[in-house]
Amino acid sequence: MTVMPRPSILAVEPYVGGESRIPGVNRIVKLSSNEGAFGPPPGAVEAIRAMATEAHRYPDGGAKALREAIGAAHGLDPARIVCGNGSDELIALLIMAYGGEGTELVMSAYGFQMYELTGLWAGCRVIKVPERELTADVDAMLAAVGPRTKLVFLTNPNNPTGTLLPQGEVERLRAGLRDDILLALDSAYAEYVTAPGYDAGAKVVDASDNTVMLRTFSKIYGLGGMRLGWAYASPTIVAVLGRVRGPFNVNAAAAAAGIAALAEPGWIGKNVAHNSEWRAKLSAALEAVGLPVRPSETNFVLVDFGSAERAGAADAHLRARGLIVRAMGGYGLPRYLRVTIGNAEECEMVIEALTGFARG
Ligand SMILES: *Cc1c(COP(=O)(O)O)cnc(C)c1O
Repeated sequence: MTVMPRPSILAVEPYVGGESRIPGVNRIVKLSSNEGAFGPPPGAVEAIRAMATEAHRYPDGGAKALREAIGAAHGLDPARIVCGNGSDELIALLIMAYGGEGTELVMSAYGFQMYELTGLWAGCRVIKVPERELTADVDAMLAAVGPRTKLVFLTNPNNPTGTLLPQGEVERLRAGLRDDILLALDSAYAEYVTAPGYDAGAKVVDASDNTVMLRTFSKIYGLGGMRLGWAYASPTIVAVLGRVRGPFNVNAAAAAAGIAALAEPGWIGKNVAHNSEWRAKLSAALEAVGLPVRPSETNFVLVDFGSAERAGAADAHLRARGLIVRAMGGYGLPRYLRVTIGNAEECEMVIEALTGFARG
């Protein structure tokens, strides 16, 4: 006999992040985790440095200055914002607070993997609903809801498919769910969206008291290593998160970096312009050599190689050139590779490598 965790823990396979090393290859271009094309904002780097000499001080447990900066940047009430150690932490807190043994969590088949992993270890039954054209299917999701369903998660635009569910469909999803079901709208890629009519979730949050919007500094703000995310929700949900989160869950350097990142002049505009330009160029170049690319509203594209074998061969071809992208077998999409939009040089390298692959 030895110590044993709760049985549901043993059902979980640990999350595997994007790789960052290839044995024997010196120069690596990491395009596997959607980390933003330009690194961290210069002002954030400065803020992290400045915080080093204050490292002995506990952070403000309420992250007040950070919440005020987020509220000002997004036109939201800071009292309804909760910050977390990455949005991953907030996902876990929501699932543990509202889900657990005897409950069900509903997500779309190719939604973000962390919902499934966290749902399983929390003891939820996780229901993955088939999609249509690699896009969440609202009718199918509503049909999957049962009396035990407590949580519905939607990534919009979605990772790893890049697809967007129109605002009307998001509203229809909320309207079709019982009031005692929490809907989490994960908008990790919101800033990259150029489709008209998109709302990252605040509208639906404001129109109900059972919806949460999740956001992150890990993508367009280039601060994945700092671990900083936030939620916008009703006062009741905010109060619940306040009970279950650790008192110092956002560290001082992360909070300072977040405030500085929001203040970085022109950062979002520059990133969005670059992303839209190179997403289009990369997509067109790959389509031109017979590799279909899903229309994406994010900072990555999902490339279709037609079969798992060919996707594997393309992955090997890229890796031999130091290019690391994300294999999709673990997501149930083995014939695809997900490629992050890097800087111009990195995109050119992907185009050159995959053009050679497709022609070779
Ligand atoms: C990257 C990502 C996250 C994780 O964000 P962190 O703030 O780094 O924890 C959450 N949701 C989706 C859909 C993501 O792609």
